[in-house]
Amino acid sequence: MPTTKSPYISLISLLLIIATSYYSFYSLMPNNSISTEAKSTNFSTQKALVHLKKITQEPHFTGSDHHQFVREYLKTALEDLGLEVEIQAQIAVNNKWGAATKAKNIIAKIPGTNSSKPLLLLSHYDSNPHSSLGASDAASGVVTILESVRALLAQPNNFKNDIIICISDAEELGLLGASAFVNHHPWGKNIGLVLNLEARGSGGPSYMLLETNGGNETLIKTFSNANTPYPVGNSLMYSIYKMLPNDTDLTIFREDGNVNGFNFAFIGDHFDYHTVQDSYDRMDINTFKHQASYMLPLIQYYANSDLSNLNSTNDLVYFNFPHIGIAYYPFSWVLPIAIILAFVFLLIISIGIYKRRLSVRETLQGFIPFIGALTGTILTAFFGWKFLLIIHPQYQDILHGFTYNGYSYIAMFVAFSIAIFLRFYKNYLLKLQVQNLLIAPITIWVLINIAIAYYLKGAGFFSIPLSTGILLLAIHLFVQNNNKWKPLYYSILLIPTLIIFVPLIKMFPVGLGLKMTGISALFTVLLLGIALPVIHSLPFRKPLGRLAFLIGVLAFITAFTNSGYNLENRQPNSIIYTLDTDAQKAYWGSYNNSSDDFTVQFLGDQPIAGNYDTTITASKYKTAIKWHREAPIKNFKAPEINIITDSIQGNNRFVHFRIKSLRNANRIELISSYPIRLKLFVVNDIAMKKAIHPVKKRGTILSYYLTSPNEILDLKLTISKEETLNLSILEASFDLLSNPQFDIKPRADYMMPMPFVLNDAIVLKKRINLYKATASEQFKETTN
Ligand SMILES: [Zn+2]
Repeated sequence: MPTTKSPYISLISLLLIIATSYYSFYSLMPNNSISTEAKSTNFSTQKALVHLKKITQEPHFTGSDHHQFVREYLKTALEDLGLEVEIQAQIAVNNKWGAATKAKNIIAKIPGTNSSKPLLLLSHYDSNPHSSLGASDAASGVVTILESVRALLAQPNNFKNDIIICISDAEELGLLGASAFVNHHPWGKNIGLVLNLEARGSGGPSYMLLETNGGNETLIKTFSNANTPYPVGNSLMYSIYKMLPNDTDLTIFREDGNVNGFNFAFIGDHFDYHTVQDSYDRMDINTFKHQASYMLPLIQYYANSDLSNLNSTNDLVYFNFPHIGIAYYPFSWVLPIAIILAFVFLLIISIGIYKRRLSVRETLQGFIPFIGALTGTILTAFFGWKFLLIIHPQYQDILHGFTYNGYSYIAMFVAFSIAIFLRFYKNYLLKLQVQNLLIAPITIWVLINIAIAYYLKGAGFFSIPLSTGILLLAIHLFVQNNNKWKPLYYSILLIPTLIIFVPLIKMFPVGLGLKMTGISALFTVLLLGIALPVIHSLPFRKPLGRLAFLIGVLAFITAFTNSGYNLENRQPNSIIYTLDTDAQKAYWGSYNNSSDDFTVQFLGDQPIAGNYDTTITASKYKTAIKWHREAPIKNFKAPEINIITDSIQGNNRFVHFRIKSLRNANRIELISSYPIRLKLFVVNDIAMKKAIHPVKKRGTILSYYLTSPNEILDLKLTISKEETLNLSILEASFDLLSNPQFDIKPRADYMMPMPFVLNDAIVLKKRINLYKATASEQFKETTN
C-alpha cells in the first residue's frame, strides 16, 4: 500500500511556510547596516549621516534659534555643491488648518539640457514644535536629498530636465512652506513631478505613496521602469490613502498646483514620532538606507524622461514583489478576475460534487470552524486590546496609539490567532475531509474579492490568495491522492500569497495603531484558511497549537515586562501654565491621565479633573486637558492689541486689528467664543482662500506662528453684521521650563515632553475689546 503521508515532507512544508514568511519581511529593505560606498558618484550613507548628526542636535521648529542654524547650514551645504541658493521668505496660510506663518524655504535649481518640466526634490527642514529633534522627520529626507544631489553632480552632467531642490519650511505647522512655494514662487505652478521624503516614525520599510488628482497608471509604470532596488508599495495603501483626508507637503502640490508626486515615508516605531526620541541615535540605519535607495534611480530616470504629462485617467492595481519590483495590472481587470475566479470555483465544486469527491453536508459543516475562528480571533484582538488599556492605563498617554512594546502585542495576537484557529479546527480536521473544509475559506475569499471589485479596487491583488486557494482545492480533488509530496507542492504554491500578505499583517497595526490588531487577526485566519491542505497534512497539529499559544503567552510576558518607562522608552508628560489676563486667574493644566513625579509639583495631590476653559487650544488628536489646578499669578506682559477699524458697511462688519507679543512668544491663536462664518479673512496681507471655514465654527480660527522678535500680526476679517463677534487670543511661548519667573524641577531622565499637545508652554489669554458700542450704533443707523 502506497504511503500518502510523510511526516518529514509535512515538516519541510511547514518550515518552507515559516521561512517564506520571514523572507517576506527580509526582502523589503536593505539589511547590511555597514557598507562603504567608494565611488563618489554613489550615494554615501556615511556622508549623509554627517549632515544628519549636525542638524539634529537641538529641536529646530520654525522660528527657533536652531531652525535658523539648520537653514544656514543647508544653504551653505548646497552652495558648497556649486549651487545658487535662494531663501524664499513668504507669509503662507493653510486654509484647512487655519494656520499661518512666515515660511523660509531653501530653493536651488540644477538646469537641465532640454527641460520638459522640472523635477522637484522635496523634504522639510523644520522639526515639530517644540521638543522633537526631527532626525527621521524629516532631516533624514533633507540629508538624503543633499547627498543624492552631491552624487548626481559628481556624474557627467547630461540630464535633460531641470531639477529643483526645495527644502521646505513649516511643514509641521500646516504644510506652509509647500504652500508658499506652490502659491507664491514663480517656479511653483510649473513642476512636472515631485519626489517627497517624509517620516512618521524612526524605523521600518519606506513606503511609496503617490498623490495624483487623476489615475496612477503613468506614474506606476514609470516608477516601475525606474528600477529602484527595494520598491515597497501597493494599491491597497493607495486606495485607502485616497479615501482619507491626507496631509503631506504633496497634498498642497496636488490640490493647489495639480502636480503629481511620490511620497516616500517610513512609519515604523511610530512612538518616536514628534518626540525628543526622534533622534539621530534612534533612527534605524537600514530604514534610512531604504529611503535613500529610492532617490538616485528615480532622479536619473525622471530627469531624463518627459515630465510634461504624467497624468492618466486609468488606475492600476500594483504591489511589490521580490526580484520583480512592482507588478501591476489595470483596475478594469479586477471585476472580471473576481467573476472568473468565482465561476471557476463554482465549476470545481459542481464537478467535485458530481464525482462524489465533495460532500455538500461536510462542506456546509466546514463553515462552522472557519466562521468560529474568524469571530474568535477578531473578538480576542478587539477586546484584548481594550483589556490591555485597562491593565496598563499609562498607554493612554502614548497618543500615537502604538506603545513601545507594540510589536510584541502584534506577535501575541497573531500567535493567539493561530492557536484559536487550530483549536476550532482540531476535531473538524479529524472528522471531515480537507477538500470539504477548504470550501468555507475560499467562499469567504470569493465574497471579499467581489466586494473589493466594487468598493476597494486597490485591493485587487487579493485575487492572488483566492486563485491559490482554488488551485489547491483543484489539486486536492483531481490529482492522485497517493502522492506524498503534495504538502510540499501546496507550500510552494502558497509562496506568492505569503510574500504579499504576511507583511500586511504587521503593517496595519503599525500604520493605524494597535487598536487595529483585529485586521492582523483577520488576515492571519484568512491565510490559514487557504493553507488548510498543508495544516491537514501535519501529524503534530496539537503540539503546534499549544506552541502557538505558548508563543502568544511569551509575547504577552515580554510586553508586560516592557510596559513601563525607562531611558530608552521615555514617559511622555505635559504641563502648561495659562494666565487669563482679563480675569487675573492662572492655572496649571496637564494632558496626562494621572500626575507623576514631574507634574505633581504643579498639580499637587488633589488636582481638579477636566479643563478650566473649554476654548483652550486644540491638539492633534483632540486630546483634552485632563487635570488642572489654580496657579500663582505671575507678571507677564499681555500682548498688545491695536484695533484699527471696526465698522459696518452694508450687510457686512469689517474688523481690522493688529497683535504684537511683548515677550517674543511662539504662537498666537485667535479664538472665537461663538460660531462665526468668515466671509473674508486676511492674515498679514494674505487672504485665506474661501475664508477658512465654510461652515460656522467656534474655537480656534487661526494659529499664527511667530518667527522674529517684534513681529506684528495684522488681521482683517469680514463677517455678516448679524454675527456675534467675541474674540480672544491665546499667546503661547514654549519657555515654561526656562522662564526665570518659575522655579521648576526638571523632568527625570526617563521622561519627555508629550507630543501632539501644547506643552511646556506659558499661555496668556486676552479678550479683544472691539468697538462694540460703535458697531451696534452703526448697525442701528444702517437698519433704520
Ligand atoms: Zn514631517
